Amino acid sequence: MKKIQMVDLVGQYAEIKEKVDTSISQILEQATFINGPQVHSFQADLEGYLDIKHVIPCANGTDALQIAMMGLGLQPGDEVITADFTFAATVEVIALLQLTPVLVDVEEDSFNIDLKAVERAITPKTKAIVPVHLFGQCADMEGIMKLAERHNLFVIEDNAQAIGANYTFSDGRKQKAGTIGHIGATSFFPSKNLGCYGDGGALFTNDDELANTIRGIVNHGMYRRYYHDVVGVNSRLDSIQAAVLSAKLPHLDRYCDRRREAARKYSRAFSGHPHIVVPKAAKNCEGICAECDCHVFHQYSLRITNGQRDALAEHLGQQGVPFGIYYPVPLHLQRAYADDRYKAEDFRVTNQLVKEVISLPMHTELDDEQINYITEKIIQFLDS
Ligand SMILES: *Cc1c(COP(=O)(O)O)cnc(C)c1O
Repeated sequence: MKKIQMVDLVGQYAEIKEKVDTSISQILEQATFINGPQVHSFQADLEGYLDIKHVIPCANGTDALQIAMMGLGLQPGDEVITADFTFAATVEVIALLQLTPVLVDVEEDSFNIDLKAVERAITPKTKAIVPVHLFGQCADMEGIMKLAERHNLFVIEDNAQAIGANYTFSDGRKQKAGTIGHIGATSFFPSKNLGCYGDGGALFTNDDELANTIRGIVNHGMYRRYYHDVVGVNSRLDSIQAAVLSAKLPHLDRYCDRRREAARKYSRAFSGHPHIVVPKAAKNCEGICAECDCHVFHQYSLRITNGQRDALAEHLGQQGVPFGIYYPVPLHLQRAYADDRYKAEDFRVTNQLVKEVISLPMHTELDDEQINYITEKIIQFLDS
């Protein structure tokens, strides 16, 4: 059996090597490292794929979130509601801009922000909601958009883990993750579903004026060369990363299919196990998770409900099965983000999830032998 990797970027590169190598050598020969034609063509390709008017590339996903908040004109003291169960980047940029992060609990089934908790957290100071499409499946965007409209709030989608996922509205209409809110932010970190070979990110919006504002912000606040109208940042996707992304984008749907296929095999093997909860489908999504196009499985995360998660993790380590614990500590308990306002009873689900979740190897190159080995080791351990 091939050694099991948590993420296998080597195998994926082998498939697209010729295209990637040719594009990169061209950039080296032409020395168009920054703002080269590759950046513009990737931007246009992604606009087409997502069916959105504007893609604005930037340096990484964290920047994308920060720039989204700057572009919307959020001011110090404005409250921004986001999920307690996510990667720290989401809350970090809120704090950095001196906005007030308001963390709320998530849903047990989808791991995504709990709409009712968002509603309870809204105050006259609330300006934006940041749903995170955790592990590759959209939060309840229909509910969030309705709530936002009622309270006149901006919605910034943290789409770092869900590029390529579809969201299904209750009328059956589908839209790509990251294109539903006022603005979407994504990351092209190598291990994301669409990853480059360094750092990269992008913003998505259908709003022409907001897109224009953001194009200036990412470029030192310049709308005319050497005239700085607003305080901006320096955040660029370089040409080499854009070329890698252009080589990968035509394969993204196939990559997502392969991840779903692996997820389907995992879920079937674990089906009915008394101590394992497999990932569940979001609302409006037909069928079982992994059977439709709503989840792109950035992570395949189980809940181990008999208190044995850490023991299982140790066992998997010994058996040569890599795993991840995303995430071991709720943000409201992290030293940087703790606050007296937060009460344990308001984070019942997150506090439970951090003790139960474990993510299994998930990438486009997993084979049946590896999946069988992983599922057998887990079931044997939990049954022993
Ligand atoms: C990866 C990630 C980010 C940050 O992306 P970078 O490109 O690493 O800055 C933000 N939010 C979530 C949910 C992520 O998974």
